[in-house]
Amino acid sequence: MNVAPHILAIPFPAQGHVMPLMELAQKIAKHGFKVTFVNTEFNHSRVVNALSKNDDFGDGIRLVSVPDGLEPWEDRTDLGKLSESMLRVIPGKLEEIIQNVKNDVDDDNITCIIADSGVGWALEIAVKFSLTPVIFFPAAAAILAINLSIPKMLENGIIESDGTITKNQIIQLSPAMPAMDTKTFVWACFGDSATNKIMFEICMNCNTSAKLAKWILCNSSYELEPAVFTSLPEMLPIGPLSASNKLGDKPGSFWPEDLACLSWLDQQPDCSVIYVAYGSFTVFDQTQFQELALGLELTNRPFLWVVRPDMTDNTNDVYPEGFKERIGSRGKMVSWTSQVKVLRHPAIACFLSHCGWNSTSEGVSNGVPFLCWPYFADQLFNQTYICDVWKVGLRCDKDDTGVVNKGEIKNKIDQLLGDSNFKARAMNLKEKVVNSVSEDGSSNKNLSNFIKCLKKLH
Ligand code: UDP
Repeated sequence: MNVAPHILAIPFPAQGHVMPLMELAQKIAKHGFKVTFVNTEFNHSRVVNALSKNDDFGDGIRLVSVPDGLEPWEDRTDLGKLSESMLRVIPGKLEEIIQNVKNDVDDDNITCIIADSGVGWALEIAVKFSLTPVIFFPAAAAILAINLSIPKMLENGIIESDGTITKNQIIQLSPAMPAMDTKTFVWACFGDSATNKIMFEICMNCNTSAKLAKWILCNSSYELEPAVFTSLPEMLPIGPLSASNKLGDKPGSFWPEDLACLSWLDQQPDCSVIYVAYGSFTVFDQTQFQELALGLELTNRPFLWVVRPDMTDNTNDVYPEGFKERIGSRGKMVSWTSQVKVLRHPAIACFLSHCGWNSTSEGVSNGVPFLCWPYFADQLFNQTYICDVWKVGLRCDKDDTGVVNKGEIKNKIDQLLGDSNFKARAMNLKEKVVNSVSEDGSSNKNLSNFIKCLKKLH
């Protein structure tokens, strides 16, 4: 019988986590591995329903699903509640999956678990079944560095035992590391204190899983975060994975992709279109949404705007009166698209982004300057990388009423596109990042080495 090495991969159940782990799973499967990919039932059906007829995940990938413990109608954007519920249900289900594979004489035993750091408890199951434990960190490696510094920050009184920040300050984990504002610590940026506390637990638990892990893989590159990877050599950059994805077919979308906008882009001049997208979580109230629409109108430039069906809390037509008629064919709204394909398109001039790490690394990998408008979690820190460290973007500032107003949007877009240095730096960074995932690049070498070692486990 021909036996294949077999890996179990489990993401945190959010779009920005499922997609990159699926991308990693595909890269591993191309080397002859089997990958059992575990989604929650809720996300599994979204991924399957969003597939178009010709899509498939490639040979070797088997999708399985487990309940997340919430009722179908419960709110899964409450990440704290979701995390607690999953922890009650999923570990037992994972053990069943592993045991069933073991009992099946026709299946190849699982030898390794690759778990997103947000479900780091899965590594304890790996250890229990003597499987190789691997962490996949889908965000900036600097965020993991912060998480791993929690014990020291507790000791130094920078944070309290529930994660509360004792006083706002700028810290540096080591002299070469980027300065970090304690206000932007991930667990302090979820909006309500109950969720912040649960997220603090998850961030702190990275310390336990990092100790268990045989490998810590980061979807980043040495070129993007040299100081972090130099200070913490146990963290291995293998990305950004989507930078080496030649076709831009990113797997695992929760919404069907509108690809007709690519033909619309074909009709626009090079470097002319503002691409506007806020990832999978951002929600705007009606005032902010309309101000954004009016700001895009005011720029007088073509724009492609991803307006997810759940992006506003209002189900009626939320656009300002007459907006669609006034912008005509100059602007295009889609509910979801292939962001990687869009960002690669020569018509794109800049990216108005919420600065999720996937969006950040996808923009960077394509040499696109940013206008930053972070919403929550690690996005505030990613903005610091974009604006202060790589200098490839500008911030959007809120006015006295807490709104990013139309004038601010227009002015910052004009400023960004009026200064060719932003594009020049973005192209420079792109070259370094793309090199890192090319055949001899540092991230690619790390990934190849990891895959080689996995083969030996078999
Ligand atoms: N994305 C996409 N189509 C869209 C908008 C976004 O495929 O129309 C993808 C994007 O390429 C990225 C992911 O959704 O890979 C969003 O992840 P990110 O970390 O940027 O933000 P999050 O959704 O986690 O806030």
